[in-house]
Amino acid sequence: MTEFKKVQQLLEIVREHVLNIRAKLTAEEQAYAVYHDARHVLVASCSDLLKRDRKLYLKAVEADPNRQIYNETMCGKIMDLHKSVTTFFGEELQVNEELCERIAESAEESNALFSSACVLAEELQERYEHAVVTEASSSAWAAAVANNVATIVDMQQVARVVLEVEEKNAARQMFLVDAVGSRAAARAAEDARAAARWNAEMQRREHETSQPLPSTVAEVIRSYEALVDRTQLSRLCKRLAALLREVHANPERQEIRTLRYVPLTIEHFGHPGVVHYEGCACRVLNTAAETVLRMAGYCARYNTKPSYNVVVMELFAAPSSTSFPMPCGRSSAEHRYHAVGFEMYGERTLVLAEPDPQIEMDAWCSWHEAFEVAIADLMRVV
Ligand SMILES: [Zn+2]
Repeated sequence: MTEFKKVQQLLEIVREHVLNIRAKLTAEEQAYAVYHDARHVLVASCSDLLKRDRKLYLKAVEADPNRQIYNETMCGKIMDLHKSVTTFFGEELQVNEELCERIAESAEESNALFSSACVLAEELQERYEHAVVTEASSSAWAAAVANNVATIVDMQQVARVVLEVEEKNAARQMFLVDAVGSRAAARAAEDARAAARWNAEMQRREHETSQPLPSTVAEVIRSYEALVDRTQLSRLCKRLAALLREVHANPERQEIRTLRYVPLTIEHFGHPGVVHYEGCACRVLNTAAETVLRMAGYCARYNTKPSYNVVVMELFAAPSSTSFPMPCGRSSAEHRYHAVGFEMYGERTLVLAEPDPQIEMDAWCSWHEAFEVAIADLMRVV
């Protein structure tokens, strides 16, 4: 038989074998030996076909006239056959022309190369491994091993495969456990950090509202006189008095009933997160201001919209385009923002929450009286 006829025949054999394999794969589960043999034949015949076809093709395209052995008609037939082979491999086995060439030209690794390149061979291997493991776990296996020496030899070979498959599966399982485990651990750690941050902020808010208040504004002012400059303190008292007088005169004005930390508020009363980088009285002055405001009925309130906090923080990010004088007297551009704890959760405002005169007349009266005393105390410093 000529080499051309041999390749033609091999192509037909492989084509038929592939059809048989597909039929086996769609049928019910077979014995492991069926998959094993089918794979063995597929790999061996395919790499043989590719090698033979490649050799023939190279002879047909030989450029050196002294080495040309086929006539023009034969060369044409060989080229057609080569095209059929590569088309078959490409379409039926998803092995492209470039891979076919590499497999054909590899001296020792053509089988291994084809095995890893061919999806069908891989599928047969998986079916084989699965069938082996299934059979090894059946009672028929144990009975066969117990009664037949020939089977034992056969089974010993297969047992090695079982071990390999089990190891492979265990490694795959470990990989999955590792990947899932580390993701879960990372998520748990992040959740724990988030919970700790939120708890710390809750404690801070609790601490903020539970601080005991002095009985009079005059007492507050006295306690701060030793801490800050007289000019700074009197300027602060003047601004607090102006605010409280405005509340007293126009209690319905929402923008003074809810104090947002807009630049003007920060200019007048400072901010709990803003301080000069070399240290200044702003933080102390802010504490003094908030103490007086709490005594007047203002409470710290938090919403769930943190976006405005970014605006405030950017005011103090260097270099800042806008600047204004801070309570200590220096420019806001010289001050920096240090997160207090609420920044990522929501905006912090001071809301006036006086007693409702319709419901608690007595409480409202004493609040109103205290409010007037507070203004008078502040005015005395000014
Ligand atoms: Zn300052």
